Amino acid sequence: MEQLPISYAVLSGDGSHGGHSAHGRTKQALFNLIPPAYLVAITAFWGLAPKWLVEAPWTLTVVTSLITLSVLGLEWINERHAGWRMNRREFFTDLFYVVLGTTAISWASTRLAEDPLKALKTSLGISTEWAMHLPFLVQVAMVVFIIEFGQYWMHRLMHNSTPFWLTHAPHHHITQLNAAKGYVGNPIELFLISLSLLALFDLPLAAVFCGVNVLGSISTFAHANVRADPPKVYSLFFTTIRHHSLHHSTDYESTRCNYANSLILLDRLFGTYREGEASVVGQDDLKRLSIREQFAFPFRPLIERIKSPIA
Ligand SMILES: [Zn+2]
Ligand SMILES: [Zn+2]
Repeated sequence: MEQLPISYAVLSGDGSHGGHSAHGRTKQALFNLIPPAYLVAITAFWGLAPKWLVEAPWTLTVVTSLITLSVLGLEWINERHAGWRMNRREFFTDLFYVVLGTTAISWASTRLAEDPLKALKTSLGISTEWAMHLPFLVQVAMVVFIIEFGQYWMHRLMHNSTPFWLTHAPHHHITQLNAAKGYVGNPIELFLISLSLLALFDLPLAAVFCGVNVLGSISTFAHANVRADPPKVYSLFFTTIRHHSLHHSTDYESTRCNYANSLILLDRLFGTYREGEASVVGQDDLKRLSIREQFAFPFRPLIERIKSPIA
């Protein structure tokens, strides 16, 4: 694991700008409420959606796409850092990974993890029928917690074990943050981070999809170039761009904190929370990797060993 402790910017305060005019302040105050408003809207949608809409195969994809696209739009209205502004190269790389994530990675995690886990659940006669009768919000909270608990420990493992780090490093090589950057990474990492024990629980589809979209919305904002600093009640529980940009900073110690993709509460509980924010993100002298390099990254030690002359 090589991370150079080169200079990085850690901003103090709440990082909010938005100008000093009354208009600027109003705009900023409104933007700060957007991330929590998304969670309210997502929960209301899935909580009220009729059964046919929940079960329609395209609903989850449409809502997920709307979240990503609308946050990308917000980047143009109130950007956080000019240096993170979207360009053609970043856009097409991000798009490639969004497609990869929603097709191949999603297929692999269903076939190789979720289906076998469901089969195991059936064969062992495990049932959590009680969970089907809980209030909707409790069910959603369960989905969020179960998925995030797994992601937190997997992510922490990736920062503490070299073979796992080699799969995660490409995600840390991104040199700017944008709405879909959460999708960018080596495919092995993307598969590993998708693993969860959720399939062992009986929960209604609407609560599962709601939880998935809640997590997606939080981590989209936590990667987005949007100047929105949500109220404390949000940032106490949920990961914000401040928390996650610090995780992406060039300071080695800061990358070993704020592991939670969405539920920052877990970092607070497990002692890995750190306050701060970074505007410069990346690894190894801010080297941006191409898609080919991101794919090959975990195999680099092996390739170098093969190439090096025998001593
Ligand atoms: Zn990380
Ligand atoms: Zn990230």
